Amino acid sequence: MNDFDLDALIFGVKVCPNCGEPKPRNSEHFGKDAACDDGLRNVCRECRNRQQKARYRRDPSKFYAKTKACRERRAARG
Ligand SMILES: [Zn+2]
Repeated sequence: MNDFDLDALIFGVKVCPNCGEPKPRNSEHFGKDAACDDGLRNVCRECRNRQQKARYRRDPSKFYAKTKACRERRAARG
């Protein structure tokens, strides 16, 4: 039995609506989200990463604005 099967046995399986892959229902495969019933995001980590990258490609300025704010805060602190 591999790790996946063992995890699936312990945590149960949650199917990611994005890729349709059944994955163990734990924080290793799904990001945490307190707003969800089981405390985990519906979309698996892999898809979530992919979505974030796609969002970045679509509108990088938003991400730059965020990094810039961080940098300025750090600079202000000295
Ligand atoms: Zn997925």
